[in-house]
Amino acid sequence: MDKYIDPPNVAEIVEKIKSLPTIGDIKILADELFPGWLCSTIQEYSNDYPHLDKNWRSVCNSIGVKRALIVLVDFLEFTEKHTLLKMFTESFTRAGFNVRKNSDYVICSNCKCAIPIEIIWNIFKEKNYKVPLKWSKTCTYCRK
Ligand SMILES: [Zn+2]
Repeated sequence: MDKYIDPPNVAEIVEKIKSLPTIGDIKILADELFPGWLCSTIQEYSNDYPHLDKNWRSVCNSIGVKRALIVLVDFLEFTEKHTLLKMFTESFTRAGFNVRKNSDYVICSNCKCAIPIEIIWNIFKEKNYKVPLKWSKTCTYCRK
């Protein structure tokens, strides 16, 4: 998506990002440069997909940070023209956030956790991850 491509003054912004003291400051700059990129934050993944939580925990453990939130973003592809988007994503990851593409998830209407869409469910199933037998936009637990 063109609107997330690096602006001409990318080098200057790279230096600016490096100088920002907190993840809050980085979020403000991301909102300023790429309005609409940050969509929403979610507390956790559905228990129906334990590997998502496990992967996130292992990323946080390897970096040595506490788990923060899942951050859903509008676009998540990195080419050589997406230096800033990549930097923002890495900054969030290093601060304990799990950055995911908004269109890959639905939110359980009951517990507000993140559930992968059916296409992703299918990919997970093919990879033999633990997933519900049938895809649903609500967690198994919440349907009981
Ligand atoms: Zn639920």
